[in-house]
Amino acid sequence: MRDELLSSWLGRLAKANYCSVEELCGYLGLGQGRVPECASDLQTANWAMLCGAVQRSPDEIVSMALPDSIHHDVQYVSRHDFQYCPGCVAKSPDLVLRHWRLAWSMTCEICGQALEPKNPAKDVSRRLHARALRGAEVLKTAAAMTDLARLNRISLTLQVISVLKIGRLWSLTSGNKRERLMALAAVGIGTTRPLLGAAIILRGNDPAARELSRVFPEHREMIERIRGLSQDLGRPLPRLVETVHPTGHEAHGLCRPRVSESALQAARQAISELGADANRQALLMRADTIWKRSSGVKS
Ligand SMILES: [Zn+2]
Repeated sequence: MRDELLSSWLGRLAKANYCSVEELCGYLGLGQGRVPECASDLQTANWAMLCGAVQRSPDEIVSMALPDSIHHDVQYVSRHDFQYCPGCVAKSPDLVLRHWRLAWSMTCEICGQALEPKNPAKDVSRRLHARALRGAEVLKTAAAMTDLARLNRISLTLQVISVLKIGRLWSLTSGNKRERLMALAAVGIGTTRPLLGAAIILRGNDPAARELSRVFPEHREMIERIRGLSQDLGRPLPRLVETVHPTGHEAHGLCRPRVSESALQAARQAISELGADANRQALLMRADTIWKRSSGVKS
């Protein structure tokens, strides 16, 4: 079947031939060990024997195997079935498709159904799901282009979440839906907005900052700076309505903030109103309106 995993195909061939998959592998010149899944598992294959028996070219057989991630340590390929497509499995019970084993796959490329994790989670918010989708896209692009700088950053993000016990190094291919979505979301934020991600994690969390400094001593200064920034995140948003009198004059007893501070407050207010993911132009326009109103600038 299209995009079928090599081990799935061999398993179904063995079943059709009334033998065990190990027996079939021996007969095909694949040795008696583990049923091959990754390209590296095929290094010892007897290609003449294999290609002759199954009537396929070496390229066709290698294309059914999982890719080897030899240049980096981000585990985006799983050796286990952490998810499956209910629709496709209902039609062919022993089927495993290759893309189901890749960390960024969320829907079945054959029938379009959402892939089902081994351990479904009930309370997954739409927001987490949306963030995970963005992370999946980042991961997919980095892997497709073998973008080592980005893959290193993803690896560092996974190390950080495992040090903080939010996830584990292999969470991207976890059968636990919540754990996997959290890791994918972390990858998205860790690569596109790393400072924000770190600041959110460290907000009011001194033990986490200490643990990170211990594990990453070379980044101690950076961690301390981010911890400083994260304190601003915890500050409640200023209630601008109170500082502006209906007539446009400032209320008594309140100091007018410096321009830079008031602009920052306006930006925060705009983000809280429209959401951090809002269109950049819309955010700027809203912040501008709020800032002009709060500082009494006539537009
Ligand atoms: Zn499917």
